Amino acid sequence: MSTYSSRVIYLDSNATTPVMPLALEAARAVMEDDYGNPSSVHSSGLQAKAVMENARKTACELLGCSDGKLLFVSGATEGIQTAVFSALLALRDRKARGEDIGTDLLYGATEHKAVPESLHHWNTVLNLNFRVIAIPVDSVGRHDLTFLEQHIKTAGLVCTMAANNETGVITKLDEIEKLLKDSAAYWMVDGVQALGKLPLKLNQHRIDYSLFSGHKLYAPKGIGMLYVHKDAPFTPLLAGGGQEGSLRSGTENVSGIAALGAVMQALSDGVTFRDHASLHRFRLQLLEAMKEAFPGLILNAPLEDTLPTTLNFSVPGLTSKEILDLFDAADVRVSAGSACSAAKAQPSFVLQAMSLPEWQAASAVRVSFGPATTQEYIDEACKRVRVCGEALRKTCMVTGDIEPLPADGVIQLSFGSACTWIIADAESKQCCVIDPLPELNERIAKYMRCQHYKVKAILSTASHDHQVGHSAQLRSLLGEYFAADEANMLRSQDAFGFFSDLELTRNNQVIKALSLGRQYVQQLHIRTEGNQASQTFTVYLVGTGASNSNPDFAFCGDLVIACQGNIEGVRNLRDYISDQTLICSAHDPEKLLVSRMQPAEPCCLEEVTIPSHELETFLHDHPNTVMIDVREPYEQQLSHFDVPPGTRVVHVPLSRLANGVKQWLQGSQNDETLLFFCRTGGRSSQAVQCLRRLGYQNAWHVAGGLALWQH
Ligand code: PLP
Repeated sequence: MSTYSSRVIYLDSNATTPVMPLALEAARAVMEDDYGNPSSVHSSGLQAKAVMENARKTACELLGCSDGKLLFVSGATEGIQTAVFSALLALRDRKARGEDIGTDLLYGATEHKAVPESLHHWNTVLNLNFRVIAIPVDSVGRHDLTFLEQHIKTAGLVCTMAANNETGVITKLDEIEKLLKDSAAYWMVDGVQALGKLPLKLNQHRIDYSLFSGHKLYAPKGIGMLYVHKDAPFTPLLAGGGQEGSLRSGTENVSGIAALGAVMQALSDGVTFRDHASLHRFRLQLLEAMKEAFPGLILNAPLEDTLPTTLNFSVPGLTSKEILDLFDAADVRVSAGSACSAAKAQPSFVLQAMSLPEWQAASAVRVSFGPATTQEYIDEACKRVRVCGEALRKTCMVTGDIEPLPADGVIQLSFGSACTWIIADAESKQCCVIDPLPELNERIAKYMRCQHYKVKAILSTASHDHQVGHSAQLRSLLGEYFAADEANMLRSQDAFGFFSDLELTRNNQVIKALSLGRQYVQQLHIRTEGNQASQTFTVYLVGTGASNSNPDFAFCGDLVIACQGNIEGVRNLRDYISDQTLICSAHDPEKLLVSRMQPAEPCCLEEVTIPSHELETFLHDHPNTVMIDVREPYEQQLSHFDVPPGTRVVHVPLSRLANGVKQWLQGSQNDETLLFFCRTGGRSSQAVQCLRRLGYQNAWHVAGGLALWQH
């Protein structure tokens, strides 16, 4: 469609769609020409009313609802409110007349949040005390019909969506209707995702209420429709000027209605929208490209049960956020299938209701396209998806035959707030892994295989059973990529996986250490003192081999957490590290990334944030600025963006920030102006706060990241 910006491949149509040209034209015509108030009795008013009634007639024919009412509302959420409000008031009246109205309000466990929230809201506001009960779904997302059958006798209202927005799973409305045959319960069907994708003839069912949102099908936001069966009770939610036959007051959104009417008209012109078979073909084509890009991809809902325009899948070893970041870098818009807050990605409640394993819900991605998509668009989308796959292979996020980019230095991998650290040496192609996590082990093993690195040691900062188990799991996954399998090394490993093959002289003392190319790894057992019972912690110091030089990094496991962040109080550790040594923790709930012994300096994020529209002025005022791209290597591979001429851009992924921090802090302090950026400003805000806390005052970040600045 010509309304798409050609740079962007938009595969998030279940969230919203662009306004299609014929809808845009219809809206423009109303805003410029037929702009009268439909309630006015002069010609301009009559013309506006005619536009509105034409749109209603077209929609009624398409939805087969000439027998009931079709109201224009602001969107599906308003439609849901009105339907729930109407049904609950009617139930209250019936109860007052002494009728048995049941005790329960039932809704499908995977309904859009607007449904359960409305049920709870009106149940409370009207003081009705119904039980609000979710109808469970099976692993494919289909309603548990046995459960519904068992509860139907006590139901006052049943809400079941026609098709799910996250998975595209289609509800078998006929089967639900059979169960409702002898029930007096009202039935609401959310038709948002079905509109334009499934045939819906409302009068052929006993559906009491159904609702639709224009922006999910190429009309603008702020317009929707509510169908009410001719016998269903109705109470207006909005009272006022008596518009919509006093059923929904407020001056009508005529331009939105005209646009929606134009889309409804186009649905039957046989040209604008693709037929079912073409949509199925497009989806298969996209799925093939996705499978190539992400070997091992698992579908979260079977193709035969879902809308032909929706794919929901997970990729073992990759989180939704990582896939979304990857696609976004290639200007492909998909949905994470989960609500991500800056601190924590919440797995989708829809996938949780389907009882998918935790990793699968945390890795889910939704790809959805509109039913007016063209073959050319899908071809271009597939091309872009394959390029994403290449970027992943090049950076060893999935295995493949492309020459990988070598890893060097300290790498931080996170799962929730827990961290695994890798120390890599590019020259000797060797690594140490510290505190492996079961959720990351597959990825680490793949990474080593792809990089052709050998893991020389798997170290733990704790020797309890589950940590030993995690290390053993990684060792078996690594197979031949675990290098320490020579008999003597295995024998000499301690309970933490440590062994020494090097002697260092530091402060006139001989120290046994583990060599890793130019770097050494030293093991310490540190006792904490203080009011509480003292504890012993295992710490690994990493530095380069120079005598008497202080270690660059201290991997402290749970020590930081145990000291509630006051690690400067751990005197025993002070004897071994300097104020410059960077402390890397096994837990990082506050996203500090790295810290130091000396007390941290607080940082006010607002003061170090550069709004994207002020970027040019900032760079002009700070001519030696180095822009630091903290996105991951696979994102950096993909995106091409413009920076003002003469600006230096350096890539330091957030997962490798520790290396950058070491260098920046060693350099003559604050010399260079560092300006961090990422895709949205989230990761760059972590990076800038880390540097500021560590005393580097000349660091800043771009608010909103590339998403706003390159817009
Ligand atoms: N129902 C479904 C199935 C949806 O997908 C959505 C939007 O995502 C809604 C209801 C709410 O629609 P709106 O936000 O347009 O009111």
